[in-house]
Amino acid sequence: MQAQDVALFQAALGLTEPWQVISVEFDPATKRLDLRIDFPRGATFCCPECDLAGLKARDTEEKTWRHLDFFQHQAFLTARVPRVDCPLHKVRQVALPWARERSGFTLLFEALVMAMVSEMPVKAVAELVGEYDKRVRGRGSRSRDGAGVLAGLS
Ligand SMILES: [Zn+2]
Repeated sequence: MQAQDVALFQAALGLTEPWQVISVEFDPATKRLDLRIDFPRGATFCCPECDLAGLKARDTEEKTWRHLDFFQHQAFLTARVPRVDCPLHKVRQVALPWARERSGFTLLFEALVMAMVSEMPVKAVAELVGEYDKRVRGRGSRSRDGAGVLAGLS
């Protein structure tokens, strides 16, 4: 995959420093898209409780998230999630830009849904995103813009 394509995925996911997309793999046989996200050696993080910056990762745990499908292809995000050792709050998992309430993830999904709704019947969109309907509505209820569109899918 070209460097500009990786950069495009990075922007689409709303990744912030020190997170970066390091690989994008597409398997046509299994119709699966795998995005790997990582941080460079020596990167520092903030405590999720008090925002104390400059904390190094003490350890990491690899996790995988299901992302919205790209057409009929299942998409997955994988990253090693660091834990930091805050002097005040002890060992905590850092906050992730793509897995938080106001992350680019949800915004990206809602943006796609809204774009589809403007081009095709709501019922068809609902069928397309049906697998996510429940999960999406849960997220959408926190978003003013997404709520109307996503409520219309039911
Ligand atoms: Zn702290």
